[in-house]
Amino acid sequence: MLELLTLGACRQVGKSCFILKTLEGLIMLDCGLHPSYDDPQRYPNFELVFSSGPLRAVFITHCHADHIGALPILTERWNYRGPIYMSAPTKELAYFILEDCLGAWSDQDRGVVRDEEEAHSYTPCQVKSCLSKVQLIEPGMVITIGKSVQVHSLIAGHVLGACMFFVSAVNCRFLYTGDFSGCTFHLMPAQIGAMPGTPDVILCEATYATSLKDTRLNKQAEFFQSIVDCLLDGGKVLIPVFAVGRAQELLWLLEMYWKRFQLRFPIFFSAKNAERVLYVYTKYAEDGWTTKECRELEWNAIRVVDPEVLCSWVTQSDVPLVALTTPGTLARGLSLQIFQWIAPEEKNLLIIPHFCLYGTMEQRMLEKKKGEEGEEESIPIRCKTMNLHFGFHWDTRDLLLFFSFWKPSCVVLVHGEGQKMDYLARVIKDELGIQDCWVPQEEQWLTCNYPTK
Ligand SMILES: [Zn+2]
Ligand SMILES: [Zn+2]
Repeated sequence: MLELLTLGACRQVGKSCFILKTLEGLIMLDCGLHPSYDDPQRYPNFELVFSSGPLRAVFITHCHADHIGALPILTERWNYRGPIYMSAPTKELAYFILEDCLGAWSDQDRGVVRDEEEAHSYTPCQVKSCLSKVQLIEPGMVITIGKSVQVHSLIAGHVLGACMFFVSAVNCRFLYTGDFSGCTFHLMPAQIGAMPGTPDVILCEATYATSLKDTRLNKQAEFFQSIVDCLLDGGKVLIPVFAVGRAQELLWLLEMYWKRFQLRFPIFFSAKNAERVLYVYTKYAEDGWTTKECRELEWNAIRVVDPEVLCSWVTQSDVPLVALTTPGTLARGLSLQIFQWIAPEEKNLLIIPHFCLYGTMEQRMLEKKKGEEGEEESIPIRCKTMNLHFGFHWDTRDLLLFFSFWKPSCVVLVHGEGQKMDYLARVIKDELGIQDCWVPQEEQWLTCNYPTK
């Protein structure tokens, strides 16, 4: 028998954190933050956790801030001293992500020095201390908690080091997908066929609850074709990326195409810690996380440069080029700086390679008609814009196939937009006959009791 407490990622993306109440005590699945808040809502309600029973273990699926960003608060402020499990690449990439969560990078851009307490943040020392407590796991490993709970880890795709967790407890087998995906160019797909049994309950991310993605190869071809068309036209291509995940996928893809078609246009990547992150990717390429195509590629076309070098290439030369910059949003930083230069010219191209949340600057830019002024910066937008999301999450078709194959007794949808997940839940009930399908609110308890058939 299990009880599930939702602490975030409910009817939205951000702050993934879930508690399983088992006969052995509480198990935490992910410990993320919500990047849009700078107040206590940024973190899960730890008070509720500690008033609900002894916390026995924490399992982290992957390195993204919405899954790991609150971990230093749990260990350094709440003094949690029990085991924390994550994969080796997740731990290494977490240093970069948590450092970014400190706000240092963005605040430098704005020239603001934040009061750490006021900003509800943590220090670099606390990040180090937190991650030093981590115990490493590998896909296929089983962690036993007390007499009645076993947690199996499986590869999840999505980003280097991402795992899913399959929890076997009394009267319930439970799968938490974290963020998961099929095969991308560089990552092995989620190991859904390697589960140790049929899950009774699936706690599932539904980022693309009502979207259908094009096939991976079509998408790659469209990506490459639009870049080459722009370059041959004498234009510059800007791709704003988040530092870990999509950036590496796109760099590998570009490297592969540049080699295949013997292209000479420069490709620049400018991001904090860019080289160190690429090093982590290369280091773990052999451990079964990445695809063979990716392992065989060498880095030749990509140049990792400082922001100043990239700015002078963009502003002072006519050379057609591709620029990958951080942050993934156009709201600030180097990405905004380069965008201001490329936006006024029709021959240039802006590619947003991820899902844009409603209301963000990049979403407004994509919807803006050519020639309109950008609100905040009065930038005339004449360049071409496109939004290509690569398959780092499963879409509706993938999710429905997944549920119809495993036929769980219960599905809990999280990590997506509320209304879209409500719609998907109706389809799951009506078409797959899974009546226990929930789109929970934050801080809701759900009981999962499914005696083994
Ligand atoms: Zn993620
Ligand atoms: Zn996520």
